[in-house]
Amino acid sequence: SNRNDRDKEVNVQVMVRCRPLSDEEQRTNVQSVIFCNEQRKEVTFLQSVAGRQLDKSFTFDKVFGPKAQQRSIYEHAISPIVNDALEGFNCTVFAYGQTGTGKTHTMEGDIRSKSGELSADAGIIPRAVRQIFDTLDAQKADYSMKVTFLELYNEEIFDLLTPEDCSRSMDDKQRRPISLMEDGKGGAVIRGLEEVVVYSASEIYSLLEQGSARRRTGETLLNKQSSRSHSLFSITVHVKEAAIGNEELIKCGRLNLVDLAGSENISRSGARESRAREAGELNKSLLTLGRVITALVEHSGHVPYRDSKLTRFLRDSLGGKAKTCIISTISPSSHCLEETLNTLDYAYRAKGI
Ligand code: ADP
Ligand code: MG
Repeated sequence: SNRNDRDKEVNVQVMVRCRPLSDEEQRTNVQSVIFCNEQRKEVTFLQSVAGRQLDKSFTFDKVFGPKAQQRSIYEHAISPIVNDALEGFNCTVFAYGQTGTGKTHTMEGDIRSKSGELSADAGIIPRAVRQIFDTLDAQKADYSMKVTFLELYNEEIFDLLTPEDCSRSMDDKQRRPISLMEDGKGGAVIRGLEEVVVYSASEIYSLLEQGSARRRTGETLLNKQSSRSHSLFSITVHVKEAAIGNEELIKCGRLNLVDLAGSENISRSGARESRAREAGELNKSLLTLGRVITALVEHSGHVPYRDSKLTRFLRDSLGGKAKTCIISTISPSSHCLEETLNTLDYAYRAKGI
């Protein structure tokens, strides 16, 4: 089938993870206004108006409450997707939510413990890396693997994996953005993006640690808020399958793991929104991602992939035979209620019932 037909199919799973109240929030008696029912896959806002309890509930594909452990989230929600990637699908996991709700904790967590092993607090990326190597080793597969790690800030792409010697200092010259090129098939490639061929999990962990450190250094040097940048870590695996005659079959799968900019960058309301729009503060990639997913789940003809760098780059991983998972992270605090409602609204629309 051609691309237009494929674009109309969609496979999106939407999950919610609510973080616990922080020590500081507990100490200052911040009210928790979110209740998660994991069995019923339901998030409830507890609100009382004029003495009456007017709770509001949303249902998702999966719901994880404040006590949910990294390992349990991985095993229940992510492990099947990683298997799909190894079977040759393009799969993407997005962390979406307000700054401070646990996107980076969920995606990265502790990358590795001091002993170099997977730590109990390891997030999705290190666990996925572990699963990929364990699975391929168990299959005694003949494979090759490469990773890329980039940051998207203000519609500019920065490589988080450029070799050490040309990025010793982080001034503007070294952090020169790289450009996105059309690939002639409706997708896009990033010219000059470092693709590192990797042979072991520990090699990937080192790259992740370096890339994450670079993202943080860049944030400090450019005096920008971490909440405005997206990071995108991709693993591509080629597995050689049994040859038929002279023909060699190669299965190619990709896993994209995306830590999105803080959702508060698009959910400003009213007058603040128009001022933010003028100042170019609204995050184009985040807005467009929402529109692309909505267009895909609603089967509404035109899918505006071309409107942002993120969606251009991920075009082959959104829609069609690709599998998408959105983990919306939220805070239980009453102070965040408005942002939490905005986040769940975005997530709920992505579910497209
Ligand atoms: P974000 O990336 O969305 O801005 P972070 O991942 O940096 O948020 O999380 C903010 C803080 O909350 C961090 O100190 C993090 O360790 C903590 N945190 C987030 N989610 C959880 C969780 N589920 N359990 C325990 N601590 C969490
Ligand atoms: Mg973060």
